[in-house]
Amino acid sequence: VPKATGLRGGIDLGGTKVQAVVVDERGTVLGEHREPTPVDGGAEMVVTVMATAMRSAAEAAGVRTSQLDGIGVGCPGAIDADAGTVADPPNLPWKGAYPIGPELSRALGAPVRLGNDVRVATVGEYELGAGKPYRSLLGVYWGTGVGGGVIIDGVPWNGRGAAGEIGHTVIRAGGALCHCGHRGHVEAYAGRASMEERARRMMRRGVKSSLLSIMEARGRDRMTSGVFARALEHGDKLAIHLIDRAVEALGIGIASAISLLDVEAVIIGGGLGLRLGEDYVRRIETQMRPQLLVAARPPAMHLAALGDLGGAIGAALLFEPVRRSAAAGNRVGQHGPGR
Ligand SMILES: [Zn+2]
Repeated sequence: VPKATGLRGGIDLGGTKVQAVVVDERGTVLGEHREPTPVDGGAEMVVTVMATAMRSAAEAAGVRTSQLDGIGVGCPGAIDADAGTVADPPNLPWKGAYPIGPELSRALGAPVRLGNDVRVATVGEYELGAGKPYRSLLGVYWGTGVGGGVIIDGVPWNGRGAAGEIGHTVIRAGGALCHCGHRGHVEAYAGRASMEERARRMMRRGVKSSLLSIMEARGRDRMTSGVFARALEHGDKLAIHLIDRAVEALGIGIASAISLLDVEAVIIGGGLGLRLGEDYVRRIETQMRPQLLVAARPPAMHLAALGDLGGAIGAALLFEPVRRSAAAGNRVGQHGPGR
């Protein structure tokens, strides 16, 4: 099959949606398609839906998936890039390790590489989005949890595989219980899931709020970013309390990260970050600044520029990033169709 010129696929595998894109050699999106993440059917069904989303994105771009140079996948969970497996991904319907890479490669007839969802999104912002002017940055993905990615001097810093987890940095010893089992982490205050749990607890204790009625009116079974945003618009006191707490936690956590890393810029993305937008980036900045060691030289703070497609675009960059310098730290295992 003849290859198209420099076209790559990218898939962002999330707990609620599977977003696929096809990008050209400059990272421009030529086609995209989104499918809801299946809640049952296990990993096999997830791979089937990923393949469907990718085929539709390729069709929109006027190519077949077998003509793509490669398909990058950003996913949560424990990734073994060499084996192409993902183990115990949070909010996805399987346990143990499953060979997403080889299975998807076989279904689509193109090489597949896997990367951490948040770290590939950070590389996407660095290469093509709000991080373009900088050589070092911290990506903060404020959504159901709080994820992070670090790029130092043009190279994504993965540590021994678990670097960048700003959501699991401690801001209060012995503080609120985090989903990871530890206490006082940023995510325990700022993660949407933690905020929802606290909202439900406080409402059971008699605190009045429109959060549940907004959620039900929207036909949702969770307090999504949109539910929180609407409650804030209505001046809901509980929503304001929870968001203020989240903004403070993010500001403190980011300030500590800046004192440690001294990166040039911070990019705020994620479901809540994108939904609440620029005003909240400024509010996080306001919480961060007084905590900085070098107050005279704060980092630049930006909203993620690639929006909802950022994760999928960043995943596509697992194949031949635009700025070559980033490639060194981004090198991962690859799975050809014949493997
Ligand atoms: Zn934690």
